[in-house]
Amino acid sequence: MAKYVDRDRLLHIFSLDRWGKYDPAEVRTLIKSVEPADVQPVVRGKWVPVIRYLENTVVGWECSVCGFGIDISEDGFNYCPKCGADMRECET
Ligand SMILES: [Zn+2]
Repeated sequence: MAKYVDRDRLLHIFSLDRWGKYDPAEVRTLIKSVEPADVQPVVRGKWVPVIRYLENTVVGWECSVCGFGIDISEDGFNYCPKCGADMRECET
C-alpha cells in the first residue's frame, strides 16, 4: 500500500543544513522518519452522457466509476453523490 508524506515537511528537513552532503542511505532514513500523511487517493471520474438513441438526445448523466445516474437537469456536480469520484477536470 502506498504511503504519502508531506512534501513541505521533507523540503524543510532537507533545507536545514547539510543539503548536498547526504548519502543515499541517509536520505532513505530521513524519508522514513517522516510520518505518513493521512490521505486517500483521489478517484477521478467523468459524467458520461446517457443518450436516448432513437431520439439522439441526452437524457441524463452517469458516473464513469460507479454508474450512478443523475437527471439531465442535475449536471454540474463536482463529485459523484454515490461513490465520491472527483468529476472536476484534472489540471496536470
Ligand atoms: Zn460514482
